[in-house]
Amino acid sequence: MASLRQWATELGFSQIGVADVDLSSAEAPLMDWLARGFHGEMHYMASHGLKRARPAELVPGTVRVITARMDYLPASLPPLPGEWQRIEWDRLHRPTAAAVSMYARGRDYHKVLRARLQKLADKLAELIGPFGHRVFTDSAPVLEVELASRSGLGWRGKHTLLLSREAGSAFFLGEIFVDIALPLTEAETAHCGSCQACIDVCPTQAIVGERLVDARRCISYLTIEQAGPIPPELRPLMGNRIYGCDDCQLICPWNKFARRAVLPDFDVRPALANPDLLQLWSWDEATFLRLTEGSPIRRIGFASWQRNIAVAMGNALRGQLDGAVRVAMRDALSAWLSTPPAGTDAALVGEHVEWALAQAPTA
Ligand code: SF4
Ligand code: SF4
Repeated sequence: MASLRQWATELGFSQIGVADVDLSSAEAPLMDWLARGFHGEMHYMASHGLKRARPAELVPGTVRVITARMDYLPASLPPLPGEWQRIEWDRLHRPTAAAVSMYARGRDYHKVLRARLQKLADKLAELIGPFGHRVFTDSAPVLEVELASRSGLGWRGKHTLLLSREAGSAFFLGEIFVDIALPLTEAETAHCGSCQACIDVCPTQAIVGERLVDARRCISYLTIEQAGPIPPELRPLMGNRIYGCDDCQLICPWNKFARRAVLPDFDVRPALANPDLLQLWSWDEATFLRLTEGSPIRRIGFASWQRNIAVAMGNALRGQLDGAVRVAMRDALSAWLSTPPAGTDAALVGEHVEWALAQAPTA
């Protein structure tokens, strides 16, 4: 394990653990979450069935899972304690600003983590010889928070994300399913106590119970996972969050321990350093594709990107705005409506643009 830990550190991981594959006690809560429809349109969550809770069925021969954590706070954030949260709250209160989830401002973590997990497996193979393995990160068939908490990387917070006493929740998780009986690492106990700040702060009340999120109400789901229209009753609650939502993490007291990324991959892209809605709305599809190349944002596609920005502009127009900015926003939205691009996505974006314009007092 000492060598494994050393290599993991060299590859940019902050912590690793080893979990057993018996996740049977997680099966009932998983089936209940699915039965209540809390996964929304994420049908891939259901399609793997109980294989998700049974690593040895997902990858035959698996007897252990190596779990890994990689911190992602951009290195450029101010060093003072609490300062980066203040900057993020401030952004959320500026209606013309655009809020993109912190994890998504740099390179797509899927590629970064997968490549480095594979390197870690290769290192181990050099030492012990070939062994069966498969790497995952943020992969639907894997109960990664469950595996991470059982292997001591942290505990499941009431917002359902993994929390670490050393690093809050600002990290990515990855796993290597292996067919070798590595020694297990000890599970972590929960340290939320009586706190329920994340439940109280959630703009859409998506955290419907402790460690229970109704994804259909969660802004991360609505802006990233859901392809169609955003339910009109939830749009006003989304504020200026155009890609993901960090509120339940920003409020969490454990995130005073959140750590900066050690890899430059998670440095903030210039276009996302301080984005404003009008500026992002001016992007055409070619600009979107160019500026989001290699970013997780690209996965949602241009139509969903515009849909999200239109909702945020509608929310800005409903509130107090400088007169010139209000006119510029209305004009930009109206201009889109007068020359909508051809194609089925135009109907989706157009409906959100009309909604946005309807939020604006005309006088
Ligand atoms: S990400 Fe945002 S919307 Fe989703 S549960 Fe957390 S605070 Fe609520
Ligand atoms: S905000 Fe409080 S309840 Fe929520 S995850 Fe953090 S410590 Fe737990």
